[in-house]
Amino acid sequence: MRVLPAVLVALAIAATPVIWSLARSRLAPSHAPAPAATAAAELEELRAGLAALGARVAALEARPAPGPAPEPRRPAEEANAAASDSLQDAFAQVVLIADRRSANAGLSVASPAFLAGLLGPPREELTDVCSVATNARLTGLLATENVGPIEARLVQPALVSLRQVFANVQVFEPELYARIRSAGSLCVRRVRGSEDAASAHAYGLAVDINIDGMLDELADGKTQLGLILLADFFRKEGWIWGAGFSREDSMHFEVSREKLEQWRRLGLI
Ligand SMILES: [Zn+2]
Repeated sequence: MRVLPAVLVALAIAATPVIWSLARSRLAPSHAPAPAATAAAELEELRAGLAALGARVAALEARPAPGPAPEPRRPAEEANAAASDSLQDAFAQVVLIADRRSANAGLSVASPAFLAGLLGPPREELTDVCSVATNARLTGLLATENVGPIEARLVQPALVSLRQVFANVQVFEPELYARIRSAGSLCVRRVRGSEDAASAHAYGLAVDINIDGMLDELADGKTQLGLILLADFFRKEGWIWGAGFSREDSMHFEVSREKLEQWRRLGLI
C-alpha cells in the first residue's frame, strides 16, 4: 500500500489554508479592537485635542492686549533727569545769599531825592499804605500790563524792560519762568521807616516777585534759590536787586539810576 501516504500528503497540502486561518483566529488576542474601531478612536482623540487647542486660542484672544513696554532709561539719562528734577524742586528753597553786598556791582540805586527830581513827588502826602498817585506826569506814564509770567502796574519803559527780562528767563530757564509769581508792583507809599521818602514802588519802578507764591522774609540774609537765578537776568537789564540793600529785601527788584538816566536821555521818561 504505497498510495496512502501520497493521498495523506495531498490532503494535508489542500487543508493548509483552512488550518492556518483557524489557527490565526484562535491565536489572535480576543480583546484587540478591529482596525476600523482603532481609527475611530484615534479620530476621537484628535478631535478632543483640536477642541482643547481652540479653547486655548479663545482664552488668549480674550486677554487684553499689553501696551508697548516703556523704553528703559539709560544711566546717564536717569542721572540728568534726577538732577533736573532736584533743581526744579530747589527753585523755591530758601538759601543763604552769598556775597549779597556785591549783588548790584556796576549799578546804583536811584535815591528818593533823585526820583523826586526826575518825576516830582507821586502825591502830596505819603503814608505806610498804598495810596493813589496824584502826580499827573507819573499817572500819564503808568500802565497795567501782562509782562509774561505776571501782570504789573509800572511806568511804560519799565514794563518794556521787565518784559525783556522775563523773555530771557523763558528762553534760558523755562521751568523757573513758569513758577514766577508777583507780590506787587505799584504802591504809592513812603519807604518803610522813613518820614517822607517815596519808595521806588511809589513811582511804578519796582516789582516784588517770588517763586511759587512763597513770601520772602525781610532782612534774614536768605532768599529762594530761584530768585538768585532771576537776579542775573534783572541785572543784565539794569535792575537793582533788593538782596544787596543794607536791610536785605530779596523779593524786590527796581530800575537802577543808570537805566533811568538812559530813559531820560531817550525821552522815555
Ligand atoms: Zn519791593
